[in-house]
Amino acid sequence: MPVKGMPLFPVTVVGSWPRPRYLLDALRRRQAGQISFAEFNQVADQAVLEALKYQDDAGVDIVSDGEQRRDNFYSFVVEKLEGVKLMSLAELMDHVEDKASFDAILRSMDAPAFAIHNPTVVDRLRPRMPLAVDEFAFLKQHTDKPIKIALPGPYLLARSRWVKGVSDKAYPTQDLLAEDLVRILRDELIALRDAGCAFVQFDEPVLTDVVFRPEKKERTFMCASMAAAAGEPEEELAKAAWLMNQIVRGVEGIATGVHVCRGNWSRQESGLLSGSYAPLLPTLLDMHLDQLVLEYATPRAGALADFTPFARRCEIGLGVVNPRNDEVESVEAVVARVVEALSYFDPRQVYLNPDCGFGTFAERPMNSFEVAGQKLKVIGAAAQVLRRKYGEA
Ligand SMILES: [Zn+2]
Repeated sequence: MPVKGMPLFPVTVVGSWPRPRYLLDALRRRQAGQISFAEFNQVADQAVLEALKYQDDAGVDIVSDGEQRRDNFYSFVVEKLEGVKLMSLAELMDHVEDKASFDAILRSMDAPAFAIHNPTVVDRLRPRMPLAVDEFAFLKQHTDKPIKIALPGPYLLARSRWVKGVSDKAYPTQDLLAEDLVRILRDELIALRDAGCAFVQFDEPVLTDVVFRPEKKERTFMCASMAAAAGEPEEELAKAAWLMNQIVRGVEGIATGVHVCRGNWSRQESGLLSGSYAPLLPTLLDMHLDQLVLEYATPRAGALADFTPFARRCEIGLGVVNPRNDEVESVEAVVARVVEALSYFDPRQVYLNPDCGFGTFAERPMNSFEVAGQKLKVIGAAAQVLRRKYGEA
């Protein structure tokens, strides 16, 4: 279902926002066990309000909390679930067969090794607390706007969290782990719906790795995909759609979407993956979701014309600014991109957002607050122009 009460071309975000210095300091203290999760959250409250202010100033219609409480979009669940442990790359290397090539891959892709601790399943999963209802509840107290919550997708979680030699004592196969993850994510979706959340976005960037791996069977650094090599692409894609549908099936009253990008850990575009969405679209459209949140500001993600066989099949969260550079896009360029999208989508189906978050990894923001704020403002201004053009002031 569409988010209720929205104007045409709702402006939203993909999720993360850069963290202020004081928050990073608190995060380090939390990770070193020097402060409690509750103490950390008190510090993060302030950062969430600052992230909200940037969005309000830019005219964002569906807001997020900037993922200020998360060290990144997939490992934050370590605080929330028993049975998951952060393993450093060094520890993980012990379980990788070809250590030299793994290391070379990380270097060539400019992977933020300091930021990477793979959340690894070491025991049966048991929720310690909701994954994100707490994040939602705080933001809800401070805004009347609809709220978007991002959750790591089930395929990403199942694939990245299961490490052979470590996880198989609790879950002999990755599929058995996936069953538990589906149950946890479905419960979370329902709890967020019941709490009044407008939109849940599942992040599955690792699907890019499935279709664009430079060489089959080779591990690439793609948002935690180093933990487990994947099977054949067709099989993996079918599994990803099946898992997603187990989560959302029959859950009404909340908008849902999936976000896939080609990596957002480096400003060196050459280190990120590239390729069009064409090989992924049938899978994404098989997922029973309202919206695909895709990056189209970067030319690395191919052309909107990939939607020609799938015109008007779903909503699109159209990426119209690149979070990874300092060049602030012009309002005219964003408007032109949206006009192009209207060949494949109805005006009611188009939501506007950056290509990805501005701070996927807490320790490695993709932009300054200032530039990120300016880019959001450009999207807000473009939405105003488009609403006048297509019938709503
Ligand atoms: Zn992304």
